[in-house]
Amino acid sequence: MASVAGPDLGQDGRRFSPAYPVVLSAFSGDWTDAARRYRTWAIHQPWCSRGPLYVRDDIPVWLLENGLWVWNRGPSHKVLPGTRRIQEVVQAPVALDWYWWHATPYDTHFPDYLPPREGAEVFRKAVDDLHAAGLRAIVYINGRLWGKSAPSWRAKQAERAACRRENGEIYRELYNVFDSRRAEMAPMCPATALWQTTLSDLVAEVLARYGLDGVYLDQIGHTQAEMCHAPQHGHPAGGGNYWCNGYRTLMEETRRTAQAHPPPGGDSRQPILPTEGSCEAYLDLFDAFLVLDNSYERMGFYDKLDLNWESVPLFAAVYHDYAFISVPTRRSHRRPTMTSGPAAGPCSFTAFPRTRFCRCFLC
Ligand SMILES: [Zn+2]
Repeated sequence: MASVAGPDLGQDGRRFSPAYPVVLSAFSGDWTDAARRYRTWAIHQPWCSRGPLYVRDDIPVWLLENGLWVWNRGPSHKVLPGTRRIQEVVQAPVALDWYWWHATPYDTHFPDYLPPREGAEVFRKAVDDLHAAGLRAIVYINGRLWGKSAPSWRAKQAERAACRRENGEIYRELYNVFDSRRAEMAPMCPATALWQTTLSDLVAEVLARYGLDGVYLDQIGHTQAEMCHAPQHGHPAGGGNYWCNGYRTLMEETRRTAQAHPPPGGDSRQPILPTEGSCEAYLDLFDAFLVLDNSYERMGFYDKLDLNWESVPLFAAVYHDYAFISVPTRRSHRRPTMTSGPAAGPCSFTAFPRTRFCRCFLC
């Protein structure tokens, strides 16, 4: 075990003392015992300040009552029929998390999502049709990346707000390997005003135009902080807490702007803003968390890295009454996990099932 604190990396002769205590303890037991001990401290921290789910009055009723999330992507004529059919089959409230609803290619041109791939009118009608059928819908955007081929990259001089390595180079990430010429993207520094306003303005615009029930912001709760050395960003080089604080500022503003655009239908509470992963420092800033670790296990990611790991629902064990958790309904290849229904155990009541319903070259 190691803990490294370096608020100003690369600057010799600086002394640093953390402003917080670190407590270590030995105990006998398994991970559930560790979760119980950690919880006694965790639920009194600022990220639990909104209280447990059962006392909060800011959660949309439909989110509380939703029975299944459907995960799909593509044009409305491919997405809507299957979603309606699933609702008929499960006989419960269903919500759609809609990916690749935008005209730009898949995983390449973030944050240039507008207009929708079928045009504004068709997309708005599709959302209205979902609502008329008693369904709910949110759309995907990425919360961390800016595509270097996106027109806005040059127009907004986005390189100013990109995370930079110690040698000044911009970090690079590639997800769409089928379009690598246009798919390179850069993780953005959340401490910069440009990334903060770009994301909060985008969420507000999407909600205002299309009457959606929320916006999913990918990767924010899941991905590690980049060590940003950009001198013009106003944060310590490489280390410090600018990443977490930057995203807290960004999401507080995004939540404020989202509240001005409640979805139609009489439920006047704010649109939902879920993210990927299970990051406790953002517990009060997102309305739900899409946890994929059991998928990583099933798909053999840990085996490929020669890691004899097994997913356990540790986050849910600590925060089960403080966080909505959405998990894919796929069985572990090793043994049933919390996503497998009755085997889920005591953590399952806030772990809403989610199913993927698409068939394309990326699946
Ligand atoms: Zn930075």
